[in-house]
Amino acid sequence: MRSEYQIAVFEGDGIGPEIMVPTLEILNHLQSKTSAYILNYNKCDAGALYYSKTGESLPESSLKTARASDAILLSAMGLPNVRYDDGTEISPQIELRKELSLFAGVRPVTLYPGQKSPLNIPEGKIIDFILIRESTEGLFWSQGKGEVTKDEARETLVITRDVSEKLFKFAFSLAQQRKDMNQGKGLVTCVDKANVFRAFAFFREIFDEQAKNFPQLKADHAYVDATALWMVQKPWDFDVLVTENMFGDILSDLGAGLMGGLGLAPSADIGEEHALFQPCHGSAPDIAGKGIANPFAMVLSASMMLEWLGHQHGNQALVEDGLELKNAIGNIISDGTSLTRDIGGQADTAMAAKAIIAQLA
Ligand code: ATP
Repeated sequence: MRSEYQIAVFEGDGIGPEIMVPTLEILNHLQSKTSAYILNYNKCDAGALYYSKTGESLPESSLKTARASDAILLSAMGLPNVRYDDGTEISPQIELRKELSLFAGVRPVTLYPGQKSPLNIPEGKIIDFILIRESTEGLFWSQGKGEVTKDEARETLVITRDVSEKLFKFAFSLAQQRKDMNQGKGLVTCVDKANVFRAFAFFREIFDEQAKNFPQLKADHAYVDATALWMVQKPWDFDVLVTENMFGDILSDLGAGLMGGLGLAPSADIGEEHALFQPCHGSAPDIAGKGIANPFAMVLSASMMLEWLGHQHGNQALVEDGLELKNAIGNIISDGTSLTRDIGGQADTAMAAKAIIAQLA
């Protein structure tokens, strides 16, 4: 077991630095209580503001640091008024996904007791599932490669055996991990449109092949349209859902909607060698500099990082601290007194972060 870990830190744009600073303070608070691990932070330049100053969005030196690190912690990036010459937004997080082959986009959908949701949740039902969005191919393979003529536009969806095998193996392993920790039902559902497209029949076939390697888990299929319906009607039945990039893009926002908004939605992008953790929300330039941004999605992403590092390196203290951090936020949400404005409270960023440290103490 190794106990010293290098963390590449991208502070990002807009509210990015405002939520990264308290997140690192909280991580420091946790590591000050243990000798089981040390986290070293290596700050990396990147993003829209950096691009506006230098003409580079993700410098080679930052990519090198990210590659050499044990995990990457990234805050919100991009600014609507800073764009490349072709009009697209600066998004180093997407470049990192491609560069580091981070094929598994992990989007937990968790409702803590007392958390506001647009759903009426029956007594005794718990919403706690994980949506895994393939993040390097699918319809997004076509990004920047679409063909448009006066009369026609074409984009191409690509599903490869190699990435799909890794993706499904990851999904089943995660379901096993959740089951072992009494967090999940041991169920993986492949979300596709295999009744209409051959590419999705291929996707499903590979899923079924991988399912055979995990006979102790349940494997199921669902069409993407029905999944959208069930995410609203009976989301408590899900455990781990795994799907193509574009379907996952849409369903993960629906998942954030179930949680009452993006302010509580963390995420991870995981590959075979690297992993990146960042909140689902953007850089919120409308509230940047006011000190009122919600830090919870960023802190929850950091808690996922601790858990992942712990499992990856067999370091139980990291796993436990990740869970403790998640529970601390769960308690604050249930208590309701230190919530930021976006989720119905009055607290500012500093008050919300202080409440987390108080919970941990
Ligand atoms: P992107 O396209 O980069 O994902 P976006 O255009 O979807 O970004 P966000 O930057 O996520 O938009 O912001 C959407 C709305 O949510 C804004 O009104 C913003 O202020 C609010 N918001 C986003 N994140 C937070 C946060 N952490 N705390 C409070 N409000 C937030």
